[in-house]
Amino acid sequence: LKGLPAGSVKAQGDDGFEDLRRNLSWARLEDDRRPAAIVTPADRDEVVAALELAVARDWQVGVRSGGHSWGSSFLVDGGLVLDLSRLDSVEIDAEARRAFVGPALSNGELVDELRPMGLAFPVGHCSEVALGGFLLAGGLGWNSRYWGPASMSVRSLEVVLADGSVLQADESRNPELLWLARGAGPGFPGVVTRFELELQPQPRAIEMTEVEFGIDDLDAVGAWLEARATSMQSWTEMEVKLARNAEHAEATITVTAVGFSPADADAKSDLGGFEQDLPAPALRVDGASEASFEDLHRCTDSFYPRGHFYKAEIFATGLEFAALLRSSAELFEKAPPGRSFMLLGVNADDDAPLDAAFSLSGRSFVACYAIWSEEREGEECEAWLESIRGFFATKQVSRYVGEANLREGPWHGRDSFSAAAWERVQGLRAQLDPDSRFVVAPLWDDPAEGVRA
Ligand SMILES: Cc1cc2nc3c(=O)[nH]c(=O)nc-3n(C[C@H](O)[C@H](O)[C@H](O)COP(=O)(O)OP(=O)(O)OC[C@H]3O[C@@H](n4cnc5c(N)ncnc54)[C@H](O)[C@@H]3O)c2cc1C
Repeated sequence: LKGLPAGSVKAQGDDGFEDLRRNLSWARLEDDRRPAAIVTPADRDEVVAALELAVARDWQVGVRSGGHSWGSSFLVDGGLVLDLSRLDSVEIDAEARRAFVGPALSNGELVDELRPMGLAFPVGHCSEVALGGFLLAGGLGWNSRYWGPASMSVRSLEVVLADGSVLQADESRNPELLWLARGAGPGFPGVVTRFELELQPQPRAIEMTEVEFGIDDLDAVGAWLEARATSMQSWTEMEVKLARNAEHAEATITVTAVGFSPADADAKSDLGGFEQDLPAPALRVDGASEASFEDLHRCTDSFYPRGHFYKAEIFATGLEFAALLRSSAELFEKAPPGRSFMLLGVNADDDAPLDAAFSLSGRSFVACYAIWSEEREGEECEAWLESIRGFFATKQVSRYVGEANLREGPWHGRDSFSAAAWERVQGLRAQLDPDSRFVVAPLWDDPAEGVRA
C-alpha cells in the first residue's frame, strides 16, 4: 500500500467494511454492489497513491465526494471506491471574491464561511449535499437563474487523472477539463481534488413567500403560475411542490417564491404583491419575509428526511407549466402514502447555450421523489415511479444529470446533453481515461456502445 496509511484503506472482509460501505450513500442503501476496497485519502498525494493501487490491481474506480447521487453511481462492484470525504478544506480570499474548496465541503458549510464575509454563492438547495458532485453535474443552486448554474462560477480546478498525473485547469490551461467540470457529472474522467470558485456579494435582501392551495384548484393555479413565471424578475426563483402534508390528507400545491435582490439593486424584490392576486382561496399564506441561506436550507432539508430509502426521476419537458401541473397532479394521485413528493419548475428564460458540458434544455421540469422507510414499501414506490416513467417517455426533452436515475432504464447518460455536448463528453472521456478506469453510472453509455460491467 505504497503512499497510503493503513487506516485509510478498508478491504472487503475487514472489520467495519460493511458499515463503511453502507454509509457511503446519503440515502438508505438498497444495493448489493460491493467494492473490493474503499480508500479514504487525506490529501491529493494519497489520491494519486490510491489510483496507482487501482491500476496495479486492475480495479475500476468510483469517486465519491458526499454520496448524494440517487443511484450511488460511485459504488463499483469489485473495484475501488475513492471516498473523498476528508477533502473538505475551505479557504476564502474575500478581497478577490474567491473560495478554494475541497470537493467534500458541503453547501451548508460553504454558506457558514461566506455569511460573515458578506459573500454568497449559488449553493445547492440542501445543506448537506457536497460541492464535488453538485458542481460537476452543473449545479442548479439558489438564485441560479440570475447567477447561472454553480459550475459556471468554477474558475479553476485541480484534477488527478487515472495515470496519476496532476493537472491544473482553467480557461487557458487544460480548458477541456474546465468544460467537462461544468456539467459532465458522473461522466467526468478524473478526480477533482480542489475547485476555485468565484463568489458573489450577499444579496441586498433575500425574501421568501409561500402559498398553499388545494388540489381542486390546480387549473386556476397552473394558469396563474404560467403567467407569473414569465414576468418574474430574473433574481426571483419559484418552485411548486405536490405533496401530502400532515394537516391535509389530500395532496396540496405549495408555491414557494424566493427573491434575491442584488446588492446594487435600488429596491427589494417584488414578492410583496405575490399573495395579493391569488387565483383561488389559499389553504395557507406565509407573506413575504426576510430569510437567510440557512433558512432556505432548513426549509428544503425538511423535504428530504435522512435514514430513508429514496428513488428519484427528473424530467425536463416541452410542456407548458399548466399542462405539466395537471398531468403531475394525476400521477401524484397514485403516489404511495407518506413523504413522497413532486417538485415542479418553469424555465422562464430563453437560455443561450453555455460553453460547457451542461446543456439541459426544456420549458418546464418535474422531479419525482419516492421516499419510504420500510423495505416492504419499496415495491409500491417502484410501481409509482414506473407509471411516471411511462407517462414521460414521450414528453421529456432532457434530464438533469445530477438527479437522473442512471441505474434503471430506459434512459441513458446521453439524455442529459445536447447532441454536440454528448459527443464531446464521450470523446474527451475516451482520450483522458483510455482504459475506462473511472466507473460511470450503469446506464451512462448506450447499450450499443458497450457498457463495461
Ligand atoms: C437531498 C438532495 C438534494 C439535492 N439538491 C440539489 C440541488 O439543489 N441542485 C442540484 O443541482 N442537485 C441537487 N442534488 C443532486 C446532487 O447535486 C447530486 O446528487 C450530486 O452528485 C451530489 O454530489 P455528491 O458529491 O454528494 O455526490 P456523490 O454521490 O458523491 O458523487 C456523484 C458522482 O459524481 C462524481 N464525483 C463526485 N465527486 C467527484 C470528484 N471530486 N471528482 C470526480 N468525480 C466526482 C462521481 O462520478 C460520482 O459517482 C440533490 C441531491 C440530494 C440527495
